[in-house]
Amino acid sequence: MLEKVVMTILLLITLAAFARRVNDLVGFVRLGQGEDRRPRDWGRKLKDQLVVVGLQRKLLQWTVPGVMHFFIFWGFNILFTTIVEAFGAVYQEGFHLPVIGKWGPLGAMQDFFVVAVLAGLATALVIRKIQRPGRFRGSHLKEADYILYLIAGIMITILLTRGAEISLGHFPYDTRWTPVSNFAAQLFTGMSVAARDALDTIFLWWHSLIILGFLVYITYSKHLHIATSPINVLFTSERPKGALKPMHIDVENMSEDDTFGVGKLTDLTWKQMLDGMTCTECGRCQSQCPAWSTGKPLSPKLLIMDMRDHMFEYGDQLLAAKRESDEKFQEAISQLPPMNPDIIEDEVIWDCTTCGACVQACPVNIEHIDTIIDMRRNLVMTESRFPREMQSALQNLETTGNPWGQPPAAREEWMKGGRRQEELKIPRISEAPDAEVLFWVGCAGAFDDRNKKVVYDFARLMQIAGVKFAVLGGEENCNGDPARRMGAEYIYQMLAEQNIETLNGYNVKKIVTVCPHCFNTMFNEYPQFGGNFEVVHHTEYLAQLVAEGRLEPQGELAKTVTYHDPCYNSRHNDVFQGARNVIESIPGTEYKEMHRHGHSTFCCGAGGGRMWMEERMGKKVNTERTDEALASASDTVAVGCPFCNIMLSDGIQERKADDRVAVRDVAQLLLESIEFHPDSDAAKATNGIGGGYPPTKEPEEMTGTPAGPGDAQTT
Ligand code: SF4
Ligand code: SF4
Repeated sequence: MLEKVVMTILLLITLAAFARRVNDLVGFVRLGQGEDRRPRDWGRKLKDQLVVVGLQRKLLQWTVPGVMHFFIFWGFNILFTTIVEAFGAVYQEGFHLPVIGKWGPLGAMQDFFVVAVLAGLATALVIRKIQRPGRFRGSHLKEADYILYLIAGIMITILLTRGAEISLGHFPYDTRWTPVSNFAAQLFTGMSVAARDALDTIFLWWHSLIILGFLVYITYSKHLHIATSPINVLFTSERPKGALKPMHIDVENMSEDDTFGVGKLTDLTWKQMLDGMTCTECGRCQSQCPAWSTGKPLSPKLLIMDMRDHMFEYGDQLLAAKRESDEKFQEAISQLPPMNPDIIEDEVIWDCTTCGACVQACPVNIEHIDTIIDMRRNLVMTESRFPREMQSALQNLETTGNPWGQPPAAREEWMKGGRRQEELKIPRISEAPDAEVLFWVGCAGAFDDRNKKVVYDFARLMQIAGVKFAVLGGEENCNGDPARRMGAEYIYQMLAEQNIETLNGYNVKKIVTVCPHCFNTMFNEYPQFGGNFEVVHHTEYLAQLVAEGRLEPQGELAKTVTYHDPCYNSRHNDVFQGARNVIESIPGTEYKEMHRHGHSTFCCGAGGGRMWMEERMGKKVNTERTDEALASASDTVAVGCPFCNIMLSDGIQERKADDRVAVRDVAQLLLESIEFHPDSDAAKATNGIGGGYPPTKEPEEMTGTPAGPGDAQTT
């Protein structure tokens, strides 16, 4: 009787402490700003719960730690039944669960998962204590150790209790199903009934006390993710992967007192608070981050942990003030330290290339990029504090509609005599309203020397394929991606609205672009402002033209080619096959994959507005990627993005490999095979325009582009 009373008191105390802490945690989440995350696509939500939570798909991308976690996760679910059995046994000898409590297969599963969880724990210890991968740098390792020991304690006491119950003859399952528990029962052989009974009680209480301690401890630890992960996954954004959180600004009525983005703890949304609570500190994001892996201070894991620790540090006093009165709450908010630089250094925020590797790697769907951009929005629009070299790019975007600061009239310069030595005649959309596709040239295509050649060659390919296309010419503006990702949302909004108005004015339905940033922004973000267009990246478009027989690669290029996947195609939009199809369709090319490719590509370093910022610390991201490209032993690095083109060309020059390795856009390789190879029909027919075009040299006819802000990166 006494043991039942004591257990009841302990249970009530534990549940009260647990409920109180959960109430506080819910209060912390509610300190965040409102954000509509109501699930709308229930099919997707169900799939996420099944695949991300249930099947642990993201974790299983890392085989050994993934399998380890899979067993621990499912062990916890299955072994919850043993926990109920243990507490039931305190109140009633021989307690069993209703309906399934004597079912042999359940007993077998319990046995199996005790062993699987113990094996998982042993693997975790080997990884943490012997392998010590860099991804754990900065994680709370001691806390993780306590949790591992607590779980091990729970597993061992399950086995001992089951063994004792078998030896006493009140084990609920048919022992033919439970070989592991039978084995544990051997420990009690030869003991008196009184001794076995006493040990059974000791193990049962030991087991129950660990469970009670664990229940409270997890609410204060990173293992909170056990409860919050399914909720965090449920409320994952339903936006397309490449789209940033919209922020509608009344540009006309902005005042100096307005604040934007995240400047302090309570500016975070409730979902960002929940993100913090859900981080498991596994470091998968950190290990994939191009900034961290090249020696910059940014680690997406540490960023989320710092935010979470800050929430736990100030959460209690904010809640207390909130309970007291609205004035006290506002006073407490006003005393919060600024998020940047006090909690997270400014440098950390500016290091991000928005490549998406962290979000993709995170097993609990934390959305790092939204948080980083929210902090940039505050730094740019509220604090006016950002790397000085960004200034001219932002000013140019605002005044001339492009980061290079070039006049609109210069947008058609690229048509004047590319490698065909003759001007391309391409109509403006105003002159060709029946064009089947609008070719969105992009600022890099229009103003950067290397990329002028790419857009020229791509346009030529469309001409050869007989595509009826047109351009906007001087009416084109920057799509707004650099402004938005640098945090200057008002400039992005201005550019986006202007472009959408122009495109809608010409009733444009289909757009093709050579730039993944233009593609992503117009396809995924313009719908936030009423711009709904079919947007295709040129690599996919070329693959389609080749597949339809409208373009026929002819000349053998005799090249070994590797392809660098741009983040905004592959990671953000799952676009990566077209480029490979085009390259492989060219006779004489030997295709070689880089170590990191497709969904797992590695950033070139120019995304997230970083094209317009200096890289002051660590190894340059483009050098890191260049080294990988060179390691593939290819003589050609194919690209599908103007910024990657610039970054990798610079990297290859820096590595003094430009005499043996060339960077070429996929379109350039294709045109080389179709029009400039001596074997091509075009070369034979035109007798000299293209025949014998040197494969690794660029023609010199396009020079003289004035220096732009990107020169910080390109020289
Ligand atoms: S988006 Fe890329 S650069 Fe930015 S934090 Fe994530 S992994 Fe690092
Ligand atoms: S943010 Fe996600 S991937 Fe990064 S440490 Fe936390 S749980 Fe792991």
